[in-house]
Amino acid sequence: MPTAAKTAPKAASRAASPMMVQYLAVRAEADPRAGEEALLFFRMGDFYELFFDDAARAAAALDIALTKRGEHEGQPIPMCGVPVHSADAYLARLIARGFRVAVADQTEDPAAAKKRGAKSVVRREIVRIVTPGTLTEEALLDARTSNHLAAWAEVGGDGQGGALAWCDMSAGGFWTMPVGVDERAAELARIDPAELIVAEGGNVALSWPVTPQPKTMFDSAAGASALKARFDIGALDGFGDFTRAEVAAAGALLAYVEATQMAAVPRLRPPVRQLAGGFMAIDAATRTSLELTRTADGARKGSLLGATDRTVTAGGARQLAADLGAPLTDPAAIAARLDLVAAFHADADARDRLRAELKAVPDIERALGRLSAGRGTPRDLGLIRDGLTRADAIRDELKRRTFLGPPALLTDLIGAIGPHGELTDALSRALVPEPGLSVNEGGFIAEGHDHVLDEHRSLAKDARRHIAALESDYRQATGVEKLRIKHNNVLGYFVEVAPKHADALMGAASDFAHRQTLANAVRFNSEALADLATRIAQAQAQALAREASHFAELRELILAHAETIERTAAAAARLDVAAALADLAAKRDWVRPVIDGGQAFAIESGRHPVVEAALPRGTFVPNDCDLGRDRFVWLVTGPNMAGKSTFLRQNALIAILAQAGAFVPAKRACIGAVDRLFSRVGASDNLAEGRSTFMVEMVETAAILNQATDRSLVILDEVGRGTSTYDGLAIAWAVLESIHDGIGARCLFASHYHELTALADRMSSLALATVKVREWKGELVFLHEVVPGAADKSYGLAVAKLAGLPKPTVARAAEVLGKLEDRRAETGGIAGGLEGLPLFAASSSPTDDEDALRDRLDEIRADDLSPRAALDLIYELKRLAAEA
Ligand code: ATP
Repeated sequence: MPTAAKTAPKAASRAASPMMVQYLAVRAEADPRAGEEALLFFRMGDFYELFFDDAARAAAALDIALTKRGEHEGQPIPMCGVPVHSADAYLARLIARGFRVAVADQTEDPAAAKKRGAKSVVRREIVRIVTPGTLTEEALLDARTSNHLAAWAEVGGDGQGGALAWCDMSAGGFWTMPVGVDERAAELARIDPAELIVAEGGNVALSWPVTPQPKTMFDSAAGASALKARFDIGALDGFGDFTRAEVAAAGALLAYVEATQMAAVPRLRPPVRQLAGGFMAIDAATRTSLELTRTADGARKGSLLGATDRTVTAGGARQLAADLGAPLTDPAAIAARLDLVAAFHADADARDRLRAELKAVPDIERALGRLSAGRGTPRDLGLIRDGLTRADAIRDELKRRTFLGPPALLTDLIGAIGPHGELTDALSRALVPEPGLSVNEGGFIAEGHDHVLDEHRSLAKDARRHIAALESDYRQATGVEKLRIKHNNVLGYFVEVAPKHADALMGAASDFAHRQTLANAVRFNSEALADLATRIAQAQAQALAREASHFAELRELILAHAETIERTAAAAARLDVAAALADLAAKRDWVRPVIDGGQAFAIESGRHPVVEAALPRGTFVPNDCDLGRDRFVWLVTGPNMAGKSTFLRQNALIAILAQAGAFVPAKRACIGAVDRLFSRVGASDNLAEGRSTFMVEMVETAAILNQATDRSLVILDEVGRGTSTYDGLAIAWAVLESIHDGIGARCLFASHYHELTALADRMSSLALATVKVREWKGELVFLHEVVPGAADKSYGLAVAKLAGLPKPTVARAAEVLGKLEDRRAETGGIAGGLEGLPLFAASSSPTDDEDALRDRLDEIRADDLSPRAALDLIYELKRLAAEA
């Protein structure tokens, strides 16, 4: 958030102009109403003007001219401005740079101000606070990305913990979720809010744009009343069994929406509860590491979403992002989605037809959002008309066809679309084919819809004909051939003749009244002309007023159908996602995965969806991965660049795709639903990002060991590498042991420490895998093939050579390596050296020493012992116990 000290005077001095007095009063309100420092857009005619410090900051941020206007307290007032008609584009840039903007509009007709007195200024009031989470305009949003506003609330003392509530104001969705502090970051990573509201003074160290709000806004009793009032219900129970924290968060969210949107609060659907267990838990670090919706650089291209998104509608794109962000865990729900994809996969013709039709379906969800927020335009009416008409056609077409299955979800979706005949007929009758963007300019109501409007319009439109007729009458009456009727903005309509003909119009009994004499023209008015001009002006104004009232009626009509429109939009988005995933599967040869409640993870010929797409067709090497119970931990070794990370990630991505309801890049995939997914990359691999230190790596590894279950999938890539060899090896070893012996999570563990492969002898369910390379004529050839076994060596030097390390350096390194390896052979190697340490003993099974102690105790015949022998025995047992 940009923070520059305010230099705008807080109060008006005696010398200030009435306009400045008004400006300063509105300015003083802006920050408190915005909850934080905000720029003030002050409407003056066709511009939003900014003054004082606001002007300096906005001019710098927008790269527009900073000018001056008048004086205040003896100093010129800095000013800059943006035209109202293109204000959205400027707002978008300011919001992207972290500003908040209070918009003050003229809230009365200038004529009304004039009536109050010559010196009265038009009333101006703040009508909206523009913040990143409360946008609804097309120009301010990315069509294919949801824009979430979230609120976090904590209710202390009753053990209910915290909750998140979030909404997408542009599309109407509203959700809540009980969330503990520990899971908060993971859920926020999924929701990815554009803005997060928290109580002032709360302990929230999070990486989202945070807007602190007064604690009183987070009161659950007030929240419950606000929700009931908003959704016009007597009790909240009908929507679900909300916790107090959920109600507090939802209430704070509503209060914030109302405070920023003021009169124009957009429509929100009643809140829907989401519960953690329904989705695969994926924490923030895993999302980043797997580049689910954006890459490390923040780009959509190159992410899983970027590589899989073939949707043809903006709503579909948003739905796919939501699906990939929150894979399901219930096999039946996953199968329902997969059935739908399978149906479109099997029927290419139906799929192509559907996709072609969907392509022409506009974003009705956001058009509805804009209309409900009072920011809609005639174009939005047209978008709803076109979208619903096409959706109805899609429904009819889908009904006519027979599909494989047929999938139950398809039947539901068909049932959810319309029919909208009544509404689309009304809109079609009323609107022109392509309504414009402005209510005030009119021209969007079709001819023939309203006879009175048509009359007004014909009068206004026929102005030229009426004027031309009058002109020819006057020519005849005066005998002046070159008499003309003209129009300009100062005089309006007037009759013009050359000076030599002026006398012909000047007679006492003439209809003409003199207005102006110029060097080469004399201008007149006439009663008939003035009358006509007034009628034209009135007709235009009346036509516009009638169009505006039609707009209001049509908007109301649409809002009355909001729920069915939203259902249709959701169904169209779901169909788009399914058809797009089917298309992807068909084009890239993906298969339907089998998901059940077991613990299998068997992928045959799996591929990495993003890496494969980036490589020339057919060059990606597929690999199997079987984490069955007898081999649920895989230790993958191999040189740098061999493809270990790619292999690890592709399996995690396959799990995500499968549980999101997509086909997967493999020949066969059978997965027991994963409850939690963890992916970590060792510190040294991430140093370029500047975020990972060894400490962070260990904190994240600790989180895995504390949270993973035997239903989880854990991907660990080079964990333990960010410290010294011995420390790193020891940590890697202990982590593997803990997953294998204790947690039981399916795990892929890539490491450079080929010493770790010694663990295979001790751990019954640990399988060794390595990525094949071949040395050919002294060069390293990567085969990218994952095979059973361990890397015979690390090939570090070969990779260094490949990377262009100078030859003498590589030669010297080879010499040093030779020496080190000789020493290791003498001492029994790193693993050999540690052989005797308890670290290497499986932690949860009894040790030899424990067994020895137990055996010794079994042997004792207490009754046979002399006092002396008993004393000796106690000493012996103590020693054995110390060793165990
Ligand atoms: P490092 O240890 O340095 O991280 P790595 O063993 O993890 O290396 P990756 O980053 O997975 O290696 O892969 C290196 C490159 O090899 C990839 O960018 C990709 O271009 C290519 N590659 C990896 N796997 C395959 C594959 N299965 N088929 C074809 N090319 C692959």
